[in-house]
Amino acid sequence: MNIPQCSPLSSYLALRPELDSAAAAVLAAGNYILGDRVAAFEQAFAAFCGAAQAIGCANGTDALELILRGCGIGPGDRVLTVANTAVATAAAIVRCGAEPGFVELEESGYAMSPAALELELQQRPARAVIVVHLFGLPADLPALRATAGRYGALLIEDCAQAHGARLHGVPVGSASLAAGFSFYPTKNLGAFGDGGAVITSDEALATRVRALRQYGWQERYISALPGGINSRLDELQAALLLVQLPKLAAANARRRELAARYDAGLAGLPLQLPPVRPGAEPVYHQYVIATPRREELRRFLAARGIGTAVHYPQPIHLQPAFRTGVRLPRTEKLAGEVLSLPMFPALRDEEADAVIAAIREFPW
Ligand SMILES: *Cc1c(COP(=O)(O)O)cnc(C)c1O
Repeated sequence: MNIPQCSPLSSYLALRPELDSAAAAVLAAGNYILGDRVAAFEQAFAAFCGAAQAIGCANGTDALELILRGCGIGPGDRVLTVANTAVATAAAIVRCGAEPGFVELEESGYAMSPAALELELQQRPARAVIVVHLFGLPADLPALRATAGRYGALLIEDCAQAHGARLHGVPVGSASLAAGFSFYPTKNLGAFGDGGAVITSDEALATRVRALRQYGWQERYISALPGGINSRLDELQAALLLVQLPKLAAANARRRELAARYDAGLAGLPLQLPPVRPGAEPVYHQYVIATPRREELRRFLAARGIGTAVHYPQPIHLQPAFRTGVRLPRTEKLAGEVLSLPMFPALRDEEADAVIAAIREFPW
């Protein structure tokens, strides 16, 4: 048995003829950066997300950095997020010159706790809060938005793991100031290389982000805004994303189907299944279980040819580059317990069943 934890190659094989011809058309067209494929993708992705504007950029980290820069956030400002996320979220804050602060998680989930956010904002103000919809499970955005709003902090979403997820019917990323997406190959919507996007319905912010992604240009060769960077989306990646975007809803539905299979098959075992809040339509970027016996279980599955991953083994506030001295007991406990099972749309029912059977065989 050999079941990988993820399989970006399977995304290519599923749509091979369409992807090959889209790539060939771009190569033959002679325009490779910020052309009509990027413009078409931006329009289609904005519509998919329920936002007025999407701005393509080089990766998900840059998407968050561009939003922060577009909001005028920089040295002297503090931006809050969580510590159980891709280090990219915190790196984007630091790249702007701002200081990251880390907020504890809710009791029974993987997202920022609105109560902990309130406490943090009472103690020290922050210019912005970046909410992460980790693993494709929507965070409690209405409560977090209300809390941030009471303290005058801007609300930004990191949707790098949540393309197409909804809460009470509202797509993630569409009900805050702006959101960043990544199209890293393993994400729910993945490029074949790096890519990212900002979505926003704030036209003034969209205009600033569009300028900032290319040297601060508002017209060619004339930098109007300071703080511009080079973070563009390729025509090639945009063309490949345009092929996949119409299939994203079905791919997410397949992930939900596999998650339901895992939920049913693993019920009754002494481990925590993914917590989905009422009203949420998750997209299971990862299917994550939690158990204090994580390392043992991981080795047991590896010996049976089943790939797993740990997202993430060390919380950001404990990493050498980010150490702040703060303690986050729940975040730290979860980092020792989380285990991501195989999850990708091409995973077959029989393979999910084999994963379930192996976990049930584990000497609990
Ligand atoms: C992948 C990811 C990012 C960063 O995206 P890149 O495209 O790798 O820069 C940011 N936040 C989260 C939660 C991610 O999963």
